[in-house]
Amino acid sequence: MSVPVVGAAGPFPVRRVYCVGRNYVDHIQEMREGDERDAPFFFQKPTDAVTEDGALVPYPPRTADFQFEGELVVAIGAEGVDVSAEQALEMVFGYAAGIDLTRRDRQRDCRERQISWEAGKSFDASAPCGPITPRAHTGDLAGAELRLTVNGEVRQSTPLALMIWNVAEIIAHLSADYQLRPGDLVYTGTPAGVGALAPGDVVCAEVDGLAPLSVTITESGDCHDER
Ligand code: MN
Repeated sequence: MSVPVVGAAGPFPVRRVYCVGRNYVDHIQEMREGDERDAPFFFQKPTDAVTEDGALVPYPPRTADFQFEGELVVAIGAEGVDVSAEQALEMVFGYAAGIDLTRRDRQRDCRERQISWEAGKSFDASAPCGPITPRAHTGDLAGAELRLTVNGEVRQSTPLALMIWNVAEIIAHLSADYQLRPGDLVYTGTPAGVGALAPGDVVCAEVDGLAPLSVTITESGDCHDER
């Protein structure tokens, strides 16, 4: 699996996909769970769940509540363990717009049964990721806004500044649990406004300064991916 890089000849090969569980107060409130003072926690998606801009994403099996979560994605370009927040941004290769697709009913069931979120989060084609823009061209994205539209209608629109844990802090926490390596993607959590998708929907995630990501939901079926 790899993701195109804006302005570069070669793509970014993906090693692992990490996601932050909760990172915006308004989404924690709409999910009625947790506390913003809790430390960040992480889950993973399979590397081959990454799908690129323009992909067709089949409606996944065994859910009646398939939802979008628009997120900023951080692409890691260096190796690091126990990285301090002060040094963390040096680890960043670039940024992309992403969508953490979720079987919400399955996630809620996992939560109620106090088992892993895997059935709700880590299914086929669940990690659309837009083209990566190198950090050299984006800066620190201060003042940037994250937006998600479904069929052109704005459903999520939030300044990245409202993250509970910023990119540097996320990398610091994550690198205490895992050895980060080039090729790791980190989905940084979603703000309020998450909602359900249906076959035929066109979902677009955008972050100011980054290339947009658009995927189309199709009827249930195989994940057609030629890569
Ligand atoms: Mn998420």
